[in-house]
Amino acid sequence: MQLLNRLTKLFQSPRQARSLTMAWYCSGSTNTELIENLFKVGLIKNERVKEAMLGVDRAHYAPSRPYSDSPQPIGHGATISAPHMHGHACEYLIEHLQPGARVLDIGSGSGYLTHVLANLVTGPNGSGGQGQVIGIDHIRELVELAQGNMNKSEQGWELQDSGKVKLITADGRLGWKENAPYDAIHVGAAAETLHPVLIEQLKAPGRLFIPVESEENGSSLTANGGQYIWVVDKRADGSIQKEKVFQVSYVPLTDAP
Ligand code: SAH
Repeated sequence: MQLLNRLTKLFQSPRQARSLTMAWYCSGSTNTELIENLFKVGLIKNERVKEAMLGVDRAHYAPSRPYSDSPQPIGHGATISAPHMHGHACEYLIEHLQPGARVLDIGSGSGYLTHVLANLVTGPNGSGGQGQVIGIDHIRELVELAQGNMNKSEQGWELQDSGKVKLITADGRLGWKENAPYDAIHVGAAAETLHPVLIEQLKAPGRLFIPVESEENGSSLTANGGQYIWVVDKRADGSIQKEKVFQVSYVPLTDAP
């Protein structure tokens, strides 16, 4: 408890401090053990998210320590996010990840979350009809890596072959107009601003999950990254609601190297 209090002060967010302390206990020796542990401690709460994550073996996406609840390098300065962060992202978006939904995953990196999102919107055995996930990364080598990672399972291969998952090399700050509007947009790298074009590409209703650099960046309060997740809702009547939810540490959403 003392440790949790100290981490809470350090990170100014009980949720993030709790995630960090819990993360040390959640790692598993198999994919199932990892996901079950995250569920047991409440870092994943939603049954559909749990099922979708059980359906994707992280060993296909994280080259070292795949079942550890921590981010791992995947090359080109990118990381695969920690499993509990993938879980949080899905849970914040879950109402908009019904079978048949259309999703944009910006900064798709390893392709892991793209695959989990596809499990949610295409339903079991691809039954989600029109469900589709577009994954975008601006580094071509990482797009190829994600495609190869997905091809390691028959289901991942089929998702790509059927066009239910498309992995594209592009600047995600512009969204992806061709397949817009989206029920849900996930951004996996920290943006400098809440890009209005991404909000434009949301359906009504629709939700954007995006880490954004804090304006107070550089102050002692934000010495460990100064980024916050923002959840932006476009309501059915087209009105926009923005909420800053918790502090995080993501690689930046930048110009292509
Ligand atoms: N969700 C991914 C996160 C990868 S790290 C995973 O868990 O595997 C963030 C990714 O964002 C990196 O792959 C990086 O190449 C990508 N990225 C950074 N800036 C970008 C931009 N402007 N457009 C598209 N992708 C970008």
